[in-house]
Amino acid sequence: MNDCLFCKIIKGEIPSNKVYEDDNVFAFLDINPINPGHVLVAPKNHCENMLDCSEDDLKAMITVVPRIAKAVMKAFDYPAFNLGVNNGSQANQLVPHLHFHIMPRCDGDGHELFKGKASNSEELSEVAEKIKELL
Ligand code: 5GP
Ligand code: ZN
Repeated sequence: MNDCLFCKIIKGEIPSNKVYEDDNVFAFLDINPINPGHVLVAPKNHCENMLDCSEDDLKAMITVVPRIAKAVMKAFDYPAFNLGVNNGSQANQLVPHLHFHIMPRCDGDGHELFKGKASNSEELSEVAEKIKELL
């Protein structure tokens, strides 16, 4: 993928603040952090999102998340973090190269993720059945 921004960052063609690298994974600071220490964890092999990523790369990515998150939290004394991944433009994915967001959080930082709408038990059980049939 010659045109991919994150492939260029991973290859070093575009500068980034790398915090971690291994055979499969490259992790670097988000240029527009929601809080200082916001890290993006990406596979070195190009894939667009979680649906076209190899299981090996997914495993490698999720395996390093706790290690990086612990370091981020310790570095700035954060009590918590969100792990996020946007799959598809309708889900706010802006860069079409898979990446997990490690977003450190603290009291009063003003971010409200996962603000859902109320549901009822009938709706919830219908939805669960529909999904389970397809798994
Ligand atoms: P997405 O919306 O695709 O899940 O997130 C893309 C993220 O990449 C955004 O949070 C954005 O700030 C970050 N980003 C976009 N361009 C660059 C860049 O050139 N360098 C770095 N380090 N982060 C970037
Ligand atoms: Zn790429």
